[in-house]
Amino acid sequence: MLSRRKLIKHLSAIPFVGGLLGPALPVSASLAAPSRKRDLFKELGVRTFINAAGTYTRMTGSLMHDEVLDAINGSAKDFCLIDELQDKVGEKIAKIAHSESAVVTSGAFAGMTLGLAGILTGMDQKKIEALPHLEYTGMKSEVICQKGHDIVYNHALTNTGCKMVMVETVEDVEKAINERTALMHFLHIQSDQGKIQHEEWVALGKKHNIPTSIDIAADVPPVENLWRFNDMGFDFVVISGGKALRGPQSAGILMGKKDIIAAARQHMLPRGYNIGRGMKVNKEEILGMYVALEKFVTQDQNKVWKQWEAGVAHIENAVKKVDGITTSVTAPPLGNHTPTLKIAWDQSKIKMKSTDLQEKLRMGNPSIEVGDGQENNITVTVWMLKPGQEKIVATRLREELSRASV
Ligand SMILES: *Cc1c(COP(=O)(O)O)cnc(C)c1O
Repeated sequence: MLSRRKLIKHLSAIPFVGGLLGPALPVSASLAAPSRKRDLFKELGVRTFINAAGTYTRMTGSLMHDEVLDAINGSAKDFCLIDELQDKVGEKIAKIAHSESAVVTSGAFAGMTLGLAGILTGMDQKKIEALPHLEYTGMKSEVICQKGHDIVYNHALTNTGCKMVMVETVEDVEKAINERTALMHFLHIQSDQGKIQHEEWVALGKKHNIPTSIDIAADVPPVENLWRFNDMGFDFVVISGGKALRGPQSAGILMGKKDIIAAARQHMLPRGYNIGRGMKVNKEEILGMYVALEKFVTQDQNKVWKQWEAGVAHIENAVKKVDGITTSVTAPPLGNHTPTLKIAWDQSKIKMKSTDLQEKLRMGNPSIEVGDGQENNITVTVWMLKPGQEKIVATRLREELSRASV
């Protein structure tokens, strides 16, 4: 149904309006069709929610700004050549991120696969077609990584046919390096879990003439991280498009040395004889990613941070009024760097488990998702909220926590 206000707007646009608004059913029905937007979530019965949890893949990442959606919608209405678009956008991104070259990929994961594939094959067509089969091709086959950096996403690297070689110390690295070593990979978000830090990792690679890469998928803000690791000398860097950058979740950026990016692109569409053909991005993702990045680097970082702090403070003040609640606000230093509110409770005063609270918020109206915690706490972030939603989150949290008070 058209809202009353919208109906008035429509009626005022036609020259003659016969009768009053109320009973004019045939008029409103005929006017409703062109302006009514389909709510597909509603139509399909898919739950949408206020996201006070954060940038999670399973929750569809982040919401794109209007400028990004404009880039996507606008580009959807014309054809262009993918390679020409990647060239032009790549140049712009490289300039922003201080890298020699860059390409929009279908995510950080794809960027890791493609970057390594480029290193393994260079521009050699035979080698490109051979991947992921490395035996008897003359290609290298090992990637060195610190034990503390060994996460599921390293599958992106083994997808090329390479195997991971785990190390802990500098001595381990020097022992592990051999003629089969293709890459030394680093994971920023767990840099505190490894003995070797970024600069030393890059220096080791340079010393032994082994390329180095870094996964910074979830590691802006701070905005400086976009160029910090290119400046530091990593040969390639990957970042997600659909986390804090608020580009398409089906996008990311691979940036680094010119020859690596050029070779990586041999593994991407429109070419189809490679392992990367399925990691497709079209003009919409490419331009959406570009505009999202542009917006991210030009926004007033302090202002955004202050808005996040204010949102978190609003929620904190509301829940603190419930007896038995303790709160703290911290920003994780590595990855997902945003004010994060931890709400904990004394279980003798508030009879509820964190999973119960999450379920109550999830089933409420509107539905709300908050971050996981231990049995007696949850976490809340505001960076994925729309303006004003912090008030709803605060009210609902206070309601449920008060209700469980004994
Ligand atoms: C999210 C994430 C990835 C995967 O990134 P996509 O852009 O979704 O492909 C890889 N590594 C880390 C550390 C991540 O957080």
